[in-house]
Amino acid sequence: MNWFPNFTCMACEAEIQSSYNPYLCPKCMNNLPIMSETQTTHFSPFVYEEPIRSMILNLKYNDNGFIAKALAPYLAAVYIKQIQHLYEKPPIIIPVPLHRSRQNERGYNQSEILAHELSTYINLSINTSALIRKRKTTIQKQMDTKTREINMRGAFELSPTKTNLIKNQNILLLDDVYTTGATTNECKSVLLANGANKVIILTIASVI
Ligand SMILES: [Zn+2]
Repeated sequence: MNWFPNFTCMACEAEIQSSYNPYLCPKCMNNLPIMSETQTTHFSPFVYEEPIRSMILNLKYNDNGFIAKALAPYLAAVYIKQIQHLYEKPPIIIPVPLHRSRQNERGYNQSEILAHELSTYINLSINTSALIRKRKTTIQKQMDTKTREINMRGAFELSPTKTNLIKNQNILLLDDVYTTGATTNECKSVLLANGANKVIILTIASVI
């Protein structure tokens, strides 16, 4: 009897017969765009290239939670190898929030799903209520670095009743993609301004 389920590869949609990772076929696993540059201010297991790019878009817009399961072990590996030792005490995971109206329309926040999958490996607590996206920002795809920064300014705030959850805490700020850093760096500034101790950014992929 074959107990192995007929899983589909989250990158190429081929049927997986056997693999270390039940969400990726061996061929895709061997061709992932692994980040080889040394990272110091933000961390990602991957460069924003195929098939990771399509997987992230699929996670973002097609409600495919298996993609988060496929990618979480890579986030966990980066955390354990490169980030963990930078904190003196374990951090809280904060996924970058969506604006309420966008989350309602999409039904979920992809960074929150990633946070839950990641925490199954590294056992950190997650906070999804302290950091709030107060302004609905325009889609940044076509903007340059400076315009993105201006677009993000004042987009986030800390829930007035939740600042005590952040004060003196270490934070692992989680997002899907690091492009220019406008979004995550704005979140980081808000967290630090409200008394967070150390904030480190982790994303699935970075544009380099
Ligand atoms: Zn594949």
